[in-house]
Amino acid sequence: MNPDILYRRACCAESRICTSPVSSMSLFRNARFEISIARPQDLPAPDGAEIAFAGRSNAGKSSAINTLVGHTRLAFVSKTPGRTQLINIFRMNNGAALVDLPGYGYAKVPEAIRKQWVRLLEEYLSKRESLIGLILIMDSRHPLTPLDQQMLNWFAPTGRPIHVLLTKSDKLTRGPAMQTLAKVRKDLSAWGDQITVQLFSSLKKTGMNEAEKIVGSWLIPLSESADEATASESTQK
Ligand code: GDP
Repeated sequence: MNPDILYRRACCAESRICTSPVSSMSLFRNARFEISIARPQDLPAPDGAEIAFAGRSNAGKSSAINTLVGHTRLAFVSKTPGRTQLINIFRMNNGAALVDLPGYGYAKVPEAIRKQWVRLLEEYLSKRESLIGLILIMDSRHPLTPLDQQMLNWFAPTGRPIHVLLTKSDKLTRGPAMQTLAKVRKDLSAWGDQITVQLFSSLKKTGMNEAEKIVGSWLIPLSESADEATASESTQK
């Protein structure tokens, strides 16, 4: 049996993750802002599946969220990198949550606050049961920084999927963009199918369908997962 299906099944059973069938084309559309949290200890108890967005400050995370959900300012697009040290939670129509984690790597954040958020990110990414997948945002001109690697090292051992959005791809011409994509895929190939990578531009609105399709596949409803698992078992017999 595909271990990924097993994972989804276990996960759904534990934390009522899959609430309704997912159409990838409308997955993010009309997500509503739910709450902002300023202190790590205020993170609410899980209420369904969570998909987290993480990324270096100024990598284009807020813009990517706004582009995917189809709002211009749902997530705050900062002119001052690192200004918002908040976790913002958005609720999608299917009941799953988008969790916008604080951007990391902004040098001007005071050390004590930086340490507090680093601790939160580690705790959240490595232990949150309801977190079914991570969208990691990287500026396509500066991918895979040491802090990005750190996020991967915290989350990848959970065995859950990670999708990398190489943002601001409009700032690269086609050749260098494709080379960056190939290089990042190669660098992450040791993780096998667990990590997927794509180019994305909030400015040009490119890459949205690919992102929705991949994240949609993380949210296959329980019944469908069970059907897939049964079909897969019977073809193996
Ligand atoms: P965050 O700190 O990761 O949330 O980054 P923001 O979304 O606030 O974006 C940081 C800066 O990059 C802003 O000036 C955005 O307008 C710009 N930006 C974000 N996405 C894109 C993109 O796809 N293309 C271009 N050209 N600029 C972008």
